[in-house]
Amino acid sequence: MTYIIHRNLRQTPPVAVGSHGMTIVDSRGRTYLDASGGAAVSSLGHSHRDVLEAMHQQIDRLAYAHTSFFTTDVAEELAARMAYDAPGDLDHVYLVSGGSEAIETALKMARQYFVEAGETQRSVFIARRQSYHGNTLGALALGGNEFRRKPFAPLLMDVKRVSACYEYRDRGQGQTLGDYTATLAAELDAAIVAAGPENVIGFCAETVVGATGGAIPATPGYFKAVREVCDRHGVLLIADEVMCGMGRTGTLYAFEQENILPDIVALGKGLGAGYQPIGAVVARNHVVQRMRGGSGVFQHGHTYVGHPVAAAAALAVQRVIQRDCLLGAVTVRGAALRRMLRDAFGDHPHVGDIRGRGLFWALELVKDRDSKEPFAPELKLHAAVKAQAMACGLMVYPMGGTIDGERGDHVLLAPPFIATEDDLGEIVARLGDALARAL
Ligand code: PLP
Repeated sequence: MTYIIHRNLRQTPPVAVGSHGMTIVDSRGRTYLDASGGAAVSSLGHSHRDVLEAMHQQIDRLAYAHTSFFTTDVAEELAARMAYDAPGDLDHVYLVSGGSEAIETALKMARQYFVEAGETQRSVFIARRQSYHGNTLGALALGGNEFRRKPFAPLLMDVKRVSACYEYRDRGQGQTLGDYTATLAAELDAAIVAAGPENVIGFCAETVVGATGGAIPATPGYFKAVREVCDRHGVLLIADEVMCGMGRTGTLYAFEQENILPDIVALGKGLGAGYQPIGAVVARNHVVQRMRGGSGVFQHGHTYVGHPVAAAAALAVQRVIQRDCLLGAVTVRGAALRRMLRDAFGDHPHVGDIRGRGLFWALELVKDRDSKEPFAPELKLHAAVKAQAMACGLMVYPMGGTIDGERGDHVLLAPPFIATEDDLGEIVARLGDALARAL
């Protein structure tokens, strides 16, 4: 073992020593094709020259300035660009160091929004059972992943929970999509009423569910319906786009495809595409104006907020996405990946569902396709798939039955936006090999 406290305390992972484009190389010279962008992070692939150069230039000019003394031109430019690119009046940006920090920031901002109006009794957040919002205590409390929450349960705030939008498993036989969607909106409505609308701060949801479920887009009209419920009760809608945002689904924000405007959006991963640790909260005018007109301060802050080198990396990532028309590429390549996955696994006896959007796809693995019975959690099939994929020189992001043990294993794919059709073909072929070995 090494001195690092690794995720698995009994096993040291391969040592990554180099990278280029779609691949990472380890110290034994083995090459891994990155089909998941790590955990949906590396949207531009690895060692992208433009991003590296932007970071070098920034380090040479100014590596760090604490935000209690200064702002920086690069952070201002990034925020201005993000505000310009975001729809509606999502005009205000708070830069942090990752996804969990973005969620913590969103929670505090939402609470302060009501405190500024004298509504200090508001303390309730509502989130969905099938969700992951991060590993810090606030974000962990919000998430629905029982397995991750359990050891820390006494430390976590009480969050009210509603069903996620998970058509494959939860839409009843004979139930129309419209009825299913309406049932979910009614469930949220009932949860707000039960808590007392005057006590509720916000409803938080991943626009496309990521790690806890696997690339599950909402049914048509779901987000419009929950937006309407939130509005009716004066409750904020917080979109967690840490995994699905920044182009991953073919639009910069996944919620653009739902025709809604959340009040607060959390970003991470693809914002800096792995070149630097960076996340952000993007907030609408009314949220920030109320704090500005009230106490005049946002009671929050970390040492590394607005870090100039992280901002330079994220700005370069945004420029490359626009210059190289990568949102269009995500849509086109996403359609190709979908076709390839359906051709390869559409009749596979243990692939129950193939779903996703853009370059964000998942296979749900089941013991039995007809009954949708999952594999037993004790089998840890997701771990076996990951190990076999690595043996085949492929990085994918599998997860296991984590919601009260009843939901199955899935394999998440989130390849870099620079992937060619040949890369995608190779990913699907190697995934087929890995599944054949693991199942
Ligand atoms: N929210 C979502 C939807 C995520 O997928 C993740 C990470 O996987 C997070 C929040 C937490 O982000 P981070 O791991 O950068 O803290």
